[in-house]
Amino acid sequence: MHHTQSNLIEIKEKIKTKIRELSLFEYNPKIIAVSKTFSEEDILPLIDHGHYEFGENKVQEALSKWLPIKEKNKNLKLHMLGKLQSNKVKNAVEIFDYIHSLDSPKLANKLSDEINKKSKKIKIFIQINLGGETQKSGISPSDLEIFYRNCLSLKLDIVGTMCIPPENLDPKPFFKDLLQLNKKINLSEISMGMSNDYLDAVEYQSTYLRIGQGIFGKRSK
Ligand SMILES: *Cc1c(COP(=O)(O)O)cnc(C)c1O
Repeated sequence: MHHTQSNLIEIKEKIKTKIRELSLFEYNPKIIAVSKTFSEEDILPLIDHGHYEFGENKVQEALSKWLPIKEKNKNLKLHMLGKLQSNKVKNAVEIFDYIHSLDSPKLANKLSDEINKKSKKIKIFIQINLGGETQKSGISPSDLEIFYRNCLSLKLDIVGTMCIPPENLDPKPFFKDLLQLNKKINLSEISMGMSNDYLDAVEYQSTYLRIGQGIFGKRSK
């Protein structure tokens, strides 16, 4: 068995055990295998194993790697997780099924233009800057309701919220805040939890866990 397959199986077991401990009935989070910097060699065994959700953080890398793979596997869903520059939106709309990093009114306008022009179905998460970190992108919690309403008027299919908690801090208070924010605007999906903290994210009912190194092994870049 390929190491990515056995890693994924092990992670799924840990999630199941955690869900049982928490008695969270009917809760079944999805796993996005974050394949940035990894090649087909590591990706194809996961697809053979029946895994269909993958994530990338750069548009160019995603295009060159995933166009041929998606051509052969129509069930695949590709998630954009990284910062999206306006000048890359056109290409992003071509290759991605989900965008987790909607972080400004300018990007909302641009996405709306491209998505509606091409009549593509793209599901979108609003990225929230919970830590109030100036160097990090995201909508501040106090602006979320107005921003969300604006996205709806732009006909964007907003399905949830996303966060990346500050490094080196306990992520749990941030996960808890995002769960509450999400409930406040009544969205069904939450994108939080990575290789180091996905079990904490399960505790706060994240619906999309973004796991890279835990599945593929350590990234060199
Ligand atoms: C790289 C990345 C991940 C996955 O990180 P790992 O530590 O490899 O699990 C998750 N979310 C985002 C936004 C990323 O850029």
